[in-house]
Amino acid sequence: MTVPAVPVSWPGGRAAAAAFTFDVDAESAVLWGSPGNADRMSVMSHQAYGPLVGVPRLLGLLDRHRIRSTFFVPGYTAHRHPGVVKDIVAAGHEVAHHGYLHEQPTGVSAEEEAANLDRGLQALEEVAGVRPVGYRAPMWDLSWRSPALLAERGFLYDSSLMDADVPYELAVGPATGHSRQASLVEIPIQWALDDWEQFCFLPDISGSGLIETPRKARELWQDEFEALREVGGCWVLTNHPFLTGRPSRARQLDELMAHVTSCVDVWTASLVEIARHVRSLGLTPRSITRPDVEP
Ligand code: ZN
Repeated sequence: MTVPAVPVSWPGGRAAAAAFTFDVDAESAVLWGSPGNADRMSVMSHQAYGPLVGVPRLLGLLDRHRIRSTFFVPGYTAHRHPGVVKDIVAAGHEVAHHGYLHEQPTGVSAEEEAANLDRGLQALEEVAGVRPVGYRAPMWDLSWRSPALLAERGFLYDSSLMDADVPYELAVGPATGHSRQASLVEIPIQWALDDWEQFCFLPDISGSGLIETPRKARELWQDEFEALREVGGCWVLTNHPFLTGRPSRARQLDELMAHVTSCVDVWTASLVEIARHVRSLGLTPRSITRPDVEP
């Protein structure tokens, strides 16, 4: 049985926490889906909009609202668009790990998963001089072995699971080459707080086939914010620059940022700041076990 997460106290006696996060997938996600997509110039341009136009616009918004954010950057994005990754770091935001070519951990072997982690680390080091302490699994599809692989590499936190309203310490058992118990801070996310479902429309490749209005998306995200605020939770919004970087969507995000930062009872922070705070609380790690399945 899995034990529920316990409530978390927030800095300065605030009631809740909030984070604006961005996954800079660019071309990587659709190339992992099918390398042949590289032949499709229009599809590549749809994805390149993120680093070329979206990220600069979003950096401007974050600066105006004085928000420190977390950008999850696949290593492939760093190699293909090094300038924009350096700009993110120069603007004072956190750069965190998001695979190399956006590989889903459940879609590869243990050896491949470890190699992808190391390749992503190397790319971010080469391009931006960054050793990330945070990880988000591509497609939020963590494997049961991922936590141990992250702990072995010294990561502080993960942000890929969905079983709590608040961050917690995730117990990491001994694994290959990992001889002692450890833990990771887990900062939960949710599909309702992702822009992919609202805006992604890539015929034959991804998306619901429906493009929602920016107002509808903002309403959904703000409803989630108000309710998580009431229960002392941690609201983590995940946006992709190739989607929410478009002007009409960025305008709604601008208004949402203004609202969130106007709530003085909410701590708006980057994920590494949230993770360090949670680590300082000395919470007892939770063990989560894989369900047994009858043969
Ligand atoms: Zn992604």
